[in-house]
Amino acid sequence: MKLIILGFSSAYPTLVSSTTSQLLEYNGKSFLIDCGEGTQIQLRKNKIKFNSIEDVFISHLHGDHYFGLPGLILTFNLLGREKPLNIYGPKGIKNIIVSLIKAGKTWTNYKLNFIELCSIKPEIILNKNNLIITTIPLSHGIYANGFLFRKKTTSHKLIMKKLVDEGIDKTQFSGIKIGKDGITNKGKIINNLELVEPLNQDVTYAFCSDTLFNRKIIEQIKGCDLLYHESTFLKKHENLAKKTYHSTAEQAAIIAKESNVKKLILGHFSSRYKELSLFLKEAKKKFNNVELVSEGKVFHL
Ligand SMILES: [Zn+2]
Repeated sequence: MKLIILGFSSAYPTLVSSTTSQLLEYNGKSFLIDCGEGTQIQLRKNKIKFNSIEDVFISHLHGDHYFGLPGLILTFNLLGREKPLNIYGPKGIKNIIVSLIKAGKTWTNYKLNFIELCSIKPEIILNKNNLIITTIPLSHGIYANGFLFRKKTTSHKLIMKKLVDEGIDKTQFSGIKIGKDGITNKGKIINNLELVEPLNQDVTYAFCSDTLFNRKIIEQIKGCDLLYHESTFLKKHENLAKKTYHSTAEQAAIIAKESNVKKLILGHFSSRYKELSLFLKEAKKKFNNVELVSEGKVFHL
């Protein structure tokens, strides 16, 4: 999996960054996570094929997380899109988007599938090609979800040299990949574990924006390979963070530490701060493997 940061500014776009949007690429498909204003420009800058996007995930209905979506939908239409677009977001998103499109007396020639979310518990919302996507309920004053992307490793990699040396016919390969023993051309049974590489563990990415400091998410994101957590404020504005249902860099780092994630990335910085390195400095006091996001930055998983 590959994560591309398209935008990370909170509240409104600046000359440094667009508002929140990220793209997760896996197996030739692109999953768009939030769609702040100007996301389509960021997609072009990062040379993303529009047609690779089949699923869009909107965390919540604050404008800085989805005001780019109506424009993107209509651009897709103008470019002749035919395949459906699946939009996962809070209940009410369908009415908003459809009303905007209808107000212009226009429509799309491709199908829009809205999957409206209202559960306050984690729920699996997509399961395809060994990728499972689950909501992470957040605490943000209005209904909000993060998203947990889990790439399942279900098929073992074969040790080809061993298979050839033992004289195991290729008709058995698909069975061995999923755990069956091999039988040599002399009828000898070879244990599956001798024929395959050890199974890699699942790969996980957790996207958590926007949210109040909320330890309830820890259980769900435990051991993640990569965690994006909002850090809108610095410690000196902790009260403001609480009042506006946001987090500080230090709080994001505490979540990362207590969840034992492998790496933390921070974004959604308030534009009141000109020196972003302070976010890194504050977070590092609690959790060392942390980076700030920037436009176009790529993370491999
Ligand atoms: Zn928000």
